[in-house]
Order: sequence, then structure tokens, then C-alpha cells
Amino acid sequence: MLTLTFLGTGAACPSVDRNVSSLAVAREGETMLFDCGEGTQRQMMRYGVGFAFREIFFSHYHADHMLGVTGLLRTMGLQDRTAPVTLYGPRGAARVLGAAVSLGIERSKFPVEIVEVQPGDRLERDGYALEAFPTEHRADTIGWALVEHERLGRFDPARAAALGVPEGPLWGKIHKGESVELPDGRVVSPAELVGAPRAGRRVVYSGDTRPCATLIEAARGADLLVHEATFAGEELERAKETGHSTAAEAAMVAREAGVRRLVLTHISPRYTRDAPELLEEARAAFPEVIIARDGLSVDVPYVHEEAAAG
Ligand SMILES: [Zn+2]
Ligand SMILES: [Zn+2]
Repeated sequence: MLTLTFLGTGAACPSVDRNVSSLAVAREGETMLFDCGEGTQRQMMRYGVGFAFREIFFSHYHADHMLGVTGLLRTMGLQDRTAPVTLYGPRGAARVLGAAVSLGIERSKFPVEIVEVQPGDRLERDGYALEAFPTEHRADTIGWALVEHERLGRFDPARAAALGVPEGPLWGKIHKGESVELPDGRVVSPAELVGAPRAGRRVVYSGDTRPCATLIEAARGADLLVHEATFAGEELERAKETGHSTAAEAAMVAREAGVRRLVLTHISPRYTRDAPELLEEARAAFPEVIIARDGLSVDVPYVHEEAAAG
């Protein structure tokens, strides 16, 4: 499974309707956080996101994206955490995140590592990678792409049985790409029983940014794009001045990148909870769009499995 939970979806400062930025991504039992605005730990409790994560990925260090890390780490200390946590962010990580981690008089009871990443860096994980790409905001900023590795092709058990390949270890060998010899001497190759490798999923988080080519490139063909949409079109000038995007601009990015679905977040407090004007403006350019709200959960299925189910 691959599920996103929006912990905070508001821009700049918390409001009654929206907390500031944080996004939890759960994949195959593992949770990671992207950005950690003030109050993130309480949003995690409210929306059932556990504290057993190992990594937080920051897009930049405006207060609405990082002030929550101090309190979150303190609470984890009170819960007798011992496992390490690693914080990744763009230039300035050691100074800004270091200050956030060491603020106050308590000492962290578990190791907190801080890693500065450059745009273009790729962090390899088991079954996927995290790619940092450059964005255009008023600071050193990056966006993040979670890119799953290609998966093995589909194994055809009916055909295996028809060819007389006994169920068991031989099936696994063939599935992993080995030719096997049957007891009667025949050799069966993977091409006879295994389909083409299947693409993994791609989820992209813009952070705060103007629409930009590097973001479109990173989001190319993504299953899900989470893009900031701070303003409606009437505030386009303000969006340009402050390094943000309008809903229509985010939708144009989604269209140009050919993504499957778009979720808009980082909504200015000036709009109501449903922000119908943002939704309408975005839909005109890209129909598969929703506006995030705090607590929203979005599943990202494999494309072919969705097609098979339908
Ligand atoms: Zn922001
Ligand atoms: Zn910002």
C-alpha cells in the first residue's frame, strides 16, 4: 500500500480550518514525513499517524514548514524513543534544523542526524528512492519525488502448470529471471512464464514554489502530484511576488507533466475550507484534482491493478 495523509494543508499560519504544512506518507508499513509545521505532532495523533517513523524530509525552512519538529522530537523523547531519526533538507539544514533540534534545555534521548541534500540528490531505499529536485521559491528550496523501483513482471501460474513446472521453488526462480531445468530435462525460460517488468509508483511533493520546468520534469507521468496552490487567479501578482502558485498554475503543471491525479494544498487562510474558487479554476485545466483538507487520506494504487479491478 501507498497512502498519503495530509496533516496540515494551510499556508503561512495555522487557522481554525487548516494547520500548517506536513504530509505523512505510509508505504508498506513504513511512515515518512514531508515538512513539519507547528502542531504537526497533534495532527498525527488526531489522524492516526504513528510516531514510529525514521525520517523527515524538508522542502525549505520557512517557519510554517519546520517549527513543529522541536515539539515532535521532544514528545518522542518522553515516549522513551531510542531509535534514531534523520532530518533531510536543502542548504542550511545544519544551522536551522540543528537549532530546532537543540532548542530548550532538554537533551535528545535518541540520535538525531541532520543531512543536507542538494537538488538532484537521490536517496536509495529498499524498493524505492527519494529524489530532491530544485524548485523556485524565495529561499533554498527543493521538492521531493518518491519513486518506486520497477517490479518483477507478472508470473503466469496457469501456464506454469500447463508446462508441467511443479509449484514450489522453481516458480520463484523463474519469476526472478532464472531459466530452470525440469526433471525430464526440458528447460523453461522466464520469457515463457513472466510478463514485462511493471512500473513502480511515483508521488511528487512540490513544497512551496512557482510553477517551474524542474517540477514538471520531476512530476512527468506521476501517479499523484501534491502541488501547492496558495492563491486563486485574482492573486496571480501576489503569487509571483511571494514565490507561490495559483490553483490554475498548479493544474497547468499537472497537465503538462501528464500526471494521473493532482491534490492541491498549502491553501491561504483567506479561502474557506472547501475553497470552491480554487477547485473550479484548477478543474478548467486539469479535471482529476481535489483540494486537500487536514486529515484527508489518499491511496495511490498501482495503475495496472486499478485497471484490472475496473
Ligand atoms: Zn509555506
Ligand atoms: Zn515558504
